[in-house]
Amino acid sequence: MVLARSSSSSFIIKKADMEQADMELEDIVNDPIVSKRIKSNKLLGLKKRCPDDGAWMTSTGYMYLIKATSDWAVEYLCPKDGELIRSWSPEVDATTRQIAKEILPKTKRNE
Ligand SMILES: [Zn+2]
Repeated sequence: MVLARSSSSSFIIKKADMEQADMELEDIVNDPIVSKRIKSNKLLGLKKRCPDDGAWMTSTGYMYLIKATSDWAVEYLCPKDGELIRSWSPEVDATTRQIAKEILPKTKRNE
């Protein structure tokens, strides 16, 4: 798998470490709607139409766990109005769940 990387790689890291660095998990405490954020390069190819102006938005590489539904909403940036939109859709559901499974601690797996 080839990934876009920044040029500042002056040190050598093992493959396993690289894959870790690809992903980031954060708890969000002060948000009424979402409770976790995951950053993953695997989200970067995703696209969606902006609901306001119809422009193609591209994923920012972040997804958020929606408290109410336990679904993962992918964050998109609209190039036209500069707005960030978090959106869940059935087409990306399998992808987001797979990413979550890879990064969440093994003890939390209950499927
Ligand atoms: Zn827009």
